[in-house]
Amino acid sequence: MIANPIDPVHFIPTRVLHLFTLSLFAATAVFADDECPPRYSYCGYSGPAQWPNLPIEKNECGGEKQSPINLVTQTRTPGDAIRVDYVAGDAIIRNTGHDILVTPTGDAGKITIGGKVYKLLQFHFHIPSEHHIHGAGASGEMHVVHQLEGGTDYAVIGVLLTSGTTYPALAPVFANLPAKACTKSGPIRIDFAKLLPKELSGYYTYAGSLTTPPCTQSVTWYVLEARRTILGQELAKLRALGENARPIQRNPMPLPATYVLPK
Ligand SMILES: [Zn+2]
Repeated sequence: MIANPIDPVHFIPTRVLHLFTLSLFAATAVFADDECPPRYSYCGYSGPAQWPNLPIEKNECGGEKQSPINLVTQTRTPGDAIRVDYVAGDAIIRNTGHDILVTPTGDAGKITIGGKVYKLLQFHFHIPSEHHIHGAGASGEMHVVHQLEGGTDYAVIGVLLTSGTTYPALAPVFANLPAKACTKSGPIRIDFAKLLPKELSGYYTYAGSLTTPPCTQSVTWYVLEARRTILGQELAKLRALGENARPIQRNPMPLPATYVLPK
Protein backbone atom coordinates (compact mmCIF):
# COMPACT_ATOMS: atom_id res chain seq x y z
CA MET A 1 0.00 0.00 0.00
CA ILE A 2 1.26 3.48 -0.89
CA ALA A 3 1.32 5.87 2.02
CA ASN A 4 -0.60 9.13 1.82
CA PRO A 5 2.02 11.79 0.95
CA ILE A 6 0.51 14.11 3.57
CA ASP A 7 -0.01 11.88 6.57
CA PRO A 8 -2.67 13.71 8.60
CA VAL A 9 -1.43 12.24 11.86
CA HIS A 10 2.01 13.79 11.40
CA PHE A 11 1.04 16.83 9.35
CA ILE A 12 -1.40 18.41 11.81
CA PRO A 13 0.87 18.48 14.87
CA THR A 14 3.65 20.08 12.80
CA ARG A 15 1.22 22.72 11.57
CA VAL A 16 -0.03 23.41 15.08
CA LEU A 17 3.53 23.63 16.32
CA HIS A 18 4.33 26.07 13.52
CA LEU A 19 1.40 28.32 14.51
CA PHE A 20 2.47 28.09 18.13
CA THR A 21 6.01 29.11 17.24
CA LEU A 22 4.72 32.05 15.19
CA SER A 23 2.53 33.32 17.99
CA LEU A 24 5.34 32.90 20.49
CA PHE A 25 7.93 34.91 18.61
CA ALA A 26 5.98 37.36 16.48
CA ALA A 27 2.68 37.67 18.41
CA THR A 28 0.95 37.14 15.11
CA ALA A 29 -1.55 34.68 13.69
CA VAL A 30 -2.08 33.42 10.16
CA PHE A 31 -5.20 34.93 8.66
CA ALA A 32 -7.67 33.31 6.36
CA ASP A 33 -10.35 36.00 6.28
CA ASP A 34 -9.02 37.66 3.08
CA GLU A 35 -7.33 36.36 -0.03
CA CYS A 36 -3.64 36.55 0.82
CA PRO A 37 -1.40 37.47 -0.83
CA PRO A 38 -3.66 39.39 -3.26
CA ARG A 39 -3.70 38.45 -6.97
CA TYR A 40 -1.80 41.57 -8.03
CA SER A 41 1.79 42.62 -7.50
CA TYR A 42 4.09 45.58 -8.10
CA CYS A 43 6.27 44.02 -10.80
CA GLY A 44 6.24 41.47 -13.59
CA TYR A 45 3.21 39.67 -15.04
CA SER A 46 0.77 40.90 -12.40
CA GLY A 47 2.38 44.35 -12.02
CA PRO A 48 0.61 47.73 -12.35
CA ALA A 49 0.65 47.78 -16.19
CA GLN A 50 -1.37 44.53 -16.13
CA TRP A 51 -3.88 45.52 -13.45
CA PRO A 52 -6.55 46.58 -16.02
CA ASN A 53 -6.51 42.97 -17.29
CA LEU A 54 -6.82 41.23 -13.93
CA PRO A 55 -9.85 38.92 -13.84
CA ILE A 56 -11.39 40.52 -10.77
CA GLU A 57 -14.88 41.87 -10.21
CA LYS A 58 -15.61 45.54 -11.05
CA ASN A 59 -12.06 46.15 -12.20
CA GLU A 60 -11.71 49.89 -12.93
CA CYS A 61 -7.90 49.96 -13.19
CA GLY A 62 -8.14 50.90 -16.89
CA GLY A 63 -10.46 53.84 -16.16
CA GLU A 64 -9.97 57.54 -16.83
CA LYS A 65 -9.77 58.82 -13.25
CA GLN A 66 -6.88 56.79 -11.89
CA SER A 67 -4.67 57.57 -8.90
CA PRO A 68 -2.02 58.43 -7.86
CA ILE A 69 -1.13 61.65 -9.68
CA ASN A 70 1.39 64.46 -9.43
CA LEU A 71 -0.38 67.29 -7.61
CA VAL A 72 0.19 70.65 -9.24
CA THR A 73 -1.95 73.72 -8.69
CA GLN A 74 -1.38 77.42 -9.19
CA THR A 75 -4.26 78.87 -7.20
CA ARG A 76 -5.17 78.57 -3.53
CA THR A 77 -8.90 78.18 -3.06
CA PRO A 78 -10.70 78.92 0.20
CA GLY A 79 -12.66 75.81 1.19
CA ASP A 80 -13.87 73.55 3.95
CA ALA A 81 -11.56 72.46 6.76
CA ILE A 82 -11.61 68.71 7.39
CA ARG A 83 -12.96 68.11 10.89
CA VAL A 84 -11.38 64.99 12.45
CA ASP A 85 -13.16 63.13 15.29
CA TYR A 86 -11.38 59.84 15.90
CA VAL A 87 -11.51 57.88 19.16
CA ALA A 88 -8.97 55.51 20.72
CA GLY A 89 -9.63 51.79 20.38
CA ASP A 90 -8.27 48.37 19.48
CA ALA A 91 -7.11 47.54 15.99
CA ILE A 92 -5.74 44.54 14.10
CA ILE A 93 -2.51 45.02 12.15
CA ARG A 94 -2.30 42.86 9.03
CA ASN A 95 0.61 42.15 6.75
CA THR A 96 -1.43 41.63 3.57
CA GLY A 97 1.57 40.54 1.52
CA HIS A 98 1.65 43.98 -0.14
CA ASP A 99 1.11 46.43 2.67
CA ILE A 100 0.61 46.96 6.38
CA LEU A 101 -3.09 47.46 7.06
CA VAL A 102 -4.49 48.72 10.37
CA THR A 103 -8.20 48.07 10.90
CA PRO A 104 -10.11 49.20 14.01
CA THR A 105 -12.11 46.41 15.64
CA GLY A 106 -14.90 48.84 16.57
CA ASP A 107 -16.08 52.36 15.82
CA ALA A 108 -12.95 54.54 15.60
CA GLY A 109 -14.71 57.77 14.65
CA LYS A 110 -15.22 59.93 11.60
CA ILE A 111 -14.28 62.96 9.57
CA THR A 112 -16.66 65.72 8.43
CA ILE A 113 -16.09 67.62 5.18
CA GLY A 114 -18.60 70.24 4.05
CA GLY A 115 -21.40 68.66 6.10
CA LYS A 116 -20.72 65.11 4.84
CA VAL A 117 -19.70 62.48 7.39
CA TYR A 118 -17.24 59.70 6.54
CA LYS A 119 -16.47 56.82 8.92
CA LEU A 120 -12.88 55.70 9.47
CA LEU A 121 -12.39 52.24 7.91
CA GLN A 122 -8.62 51.62 8.03
CA PHE A 123 -5.21 53.05 7.35
CA HIS A 124 -2.21 51.57 5.54
CA PHE A 125 1.19 52.46 4.11
CA HIS A 126 2.94 52.72 0.76
CA ILE A 127 6.70 52.77 0.14
CA PRO A 128 7.76 55.11 -1.47
CA SER A 129 4.94 57.68 -1.64
CA GLU A 130 2.35 57.28 -4.41
CA HIS A 131 1.36 60.93 -4.78
CA HIS A 132 3.88 63.56 -5.72
CA ILE A 133 3.53 67.25 -4.90
CA HIS A 134 4.97 69.56 -7.57
CA GLY A 135 7.00 66.65 -8.90
CA ALA A 136 8.46 65.56 -5.57
CA GLY A 137 7.66 62.25 -3.92
CA ALA A 138 8.51 61.18 -0.36
CA SER A 139 9.89 58.06 1.35
CA GLY A 140 6.41 56.82 2.20
CA GLU A 141 2.71 57.63 2.30
CA MET A 142 -0.03 56.80 4.76
CA HIS A 143 -3.58 56.44 3.45
CA VAL A 144 -6.38 56.93 5.95
CA VAL A 145 -9.49 55.48 4.32
CA HIS A 146 -13.07 56.56 5.12
CA GLN A 147 -16.48 55.72 3.69
CA LEU A 148 -19.48 58.03 3.38
CA GLU A 149 -22.01 57.29 6.12
CA GLY A 150 -24.90 55.47 4.45
CA GLY A 151 -23.11 55.54 1.08
CA THR A 152 -20.35 53.90 -0.92
CA ASP A 153 -18.04 56.83 -1.75
CA TYR A 154 -14.60 56.95 -0.18
CA ALA A 155 -12.65 59.87 1.23
CA VAL A 156 -8.94 59.10 1.61
CA ILE A 157 -6.49 61.34 3.44
CA GLY A 158 -2.94 60.99 2.13
CA VAL A 159 -0.02 61.88 4.39
CA LEU A 160 3.46 61.95 2.86
CA LEU A 161 6.05 60.49 5.24
CA THR A 162 9.74 61.17 5.60
CA SER A 163 12.41 60.00 8.03
CA GLY A 164 12.73 61.99 11.27
CA THR A 165 11.22 62.14 14.74
CA THR A 166 8.67 59.64 16.00
CA TYR A 167 4.97 59.78 15.04
CA PRO A 168 3.54 58.96 18.46
CA ALA A 169 0.13 57.59 17.35
CA LEU A 170 1.89 55.13 15.01
CA ALA A 171 4.44 53.82 17.52
CA PRO A 172 2.21 50.83 18.59
CA VAL A 173 1.83 49.88 14.90
CA PHE A 174 5.57 49.68 14.30
CA ALA A 175 6.13 47.92 17.63
CA ASN A 176 3.72 45.15 16.56
CA LEU A 177 4.38 44.95 12.84
CA PRO A 178 3.74 41.41 11.54
CA ALA A 179 6.93 40.69 9.59
CA LYS A 180 5.58 37.67 7.70
CA ALA A 181 3.17 38.04 4.78
CA CYS A 182 -0.40 36.96 5.52
CA THR A 183 -0.11 37.20 9.29
CA LYS A 184 -1.79 39.60 11.68
CA SER A 185 -1.46 40.91 15.20
CA GLY A 186 -3.87 40.44 18.04
CA PRO A 187 -5.88 43.49 19.16
CA ILE A 188 -3.50 46.45 19.67
CA ARG A 189 -4.56 49.68 21.39
CA ILE A 190 -4.23 52.65 19.00
CA ASP A 191 -4.91 56.24 19.98
CA PHE A 192 -6.72 57.17 16.77
CA ALA A 193 -7.58 60.54 18.37
CA LYS A 194 -3.89 61.46 17.96
CA LEU A 195 -3.51 60.11 14.42
CA LEU A 196 -4.27 63.47 12.78
CA PRO A 197 -4.82 67.05 13.99
CA LYS A 198 -8.45 67.90 14.86
CA GLU A 199 -8.71 70.25 11.91
CA LEU A 200 -6.87 69.74 8.64
CA SER A 201 -5.91 72.65 6.46
CA GLY A 202 -3.66 73.01 3.47
CA TYR A 203 -4.55 70.00 1.35
CA TYR A 204 -4.78 69.01 -2.30
CA THR A 205 -8.12 67.52 -3.30
CA TYR A 206 -9.23 65.77 -6.48
CA ALA A 207 -11.57 63.00 -7.67
CA GLY A 208 -9.63 59.80 -8.39
CA SER A 209 -9.47 56.11 -7.54
CA LEU A 210 -8.19 53.56 -5.08
CA THR A 211 -4.53 52.90 -5.95
CA THR A 212 -4.84 49.11 -5.65
CA PRO A 213 -7.09 46.76 -7.66
CA PRO A 214 -9.98 47.04 -8.33
CA CYS A 215 -8.96 50.76 -8.52
CA THR A 216 -12.54 51.87 -7.74
CA GLN A 217 -13.20 55.37 -9.10
CA SER A 218 -15.35 56.77 -6.31
CA VAL A 219 -12.60 58.29 -4.20
CA THR A 220 -12.13 61.90 -3.22
CA TRP A 221 -8.51 62.42 -2.27
CA TYR A 222 -7.27 64.83 0.38
CA VAL A 223 -3.47 64.85 0.27
CA LEU A 224 -2.00 66.99 3.03
CA GLU A 225 0.63 69.50 2.00
CA ALA A 226 2.46 69.10 5.34
CA ARG A 227 4.66 66.03 5.49
CA ARG A 228 4.93 64.03 8.69
CA THR A 229 7.89 62.03 10.00
CA ILE A 230 8.38 58.50 11.29
CA LEU A 231 11.62 57.01 12.60
CA GLY A 232 14.20 55.90 10.05
CA GLN A 233 14.10 52.37 11.48
CA GLU A 234 10.30 52.31 11.02
CA LEU A 235 10.65 53.33 7.37
CA ALA A 236 13.26 50.58 7.02
CA LYS A 237 10.82 48.02 8.47
CA LEU A 238 8.19 48.98 5.89
CA ARG A 239 10.77 49.03 3.08
CA ALA A 240 11.92 45.55 4.05
CA LEU A 241 8.46 44.24 3.13
CA GLY A 242 8.96 45.42 -0.47
CA GLU A 243 8.01 48.52 -2.43
CA ASN A 244 4.29 48.94 -3.00
CA ALA A 245 3.68 52.21 -4.80
CA ARG A 246 1.59 52.32 -7.96
CA PRO A 247 3.32 54.63 -10.49
CA ILE A 248 1.92 58.11 -11.26
CA GLN A 249 -1.02 57.61 -13.63
CA ARG A 250 -1.29 59.29 -17.03
CA ASN A 251 -5.03 59.83 -17.43
CA PRO A 252 -6.44 60.81 -20.86
CA MET A 253 -7.48 64.16 -19.30
CA PRO A 254 -5.29 65.32 -16.40
CA LEU A 255 -7.34 65.23 -13.19
CA PRO A 256 -7.81 68.78 -11.89
CA ALA A 257 -6.55 69.13 -8.32
CA THR A 258 -7.43 72.03 -6.06
CA TYR A 259 -5.24 73.32 -3.29
CA VAL A 260 -7.55 74.22 -0.41
CA LEU A 261 -6.81 76.61 2.38
CA PRO A 262 -9.81 76.64 4.72
CA LYS A 263 -11.87 79.83 4.92
ZN1 LIG B 1 -3.28 53.17 -0.30
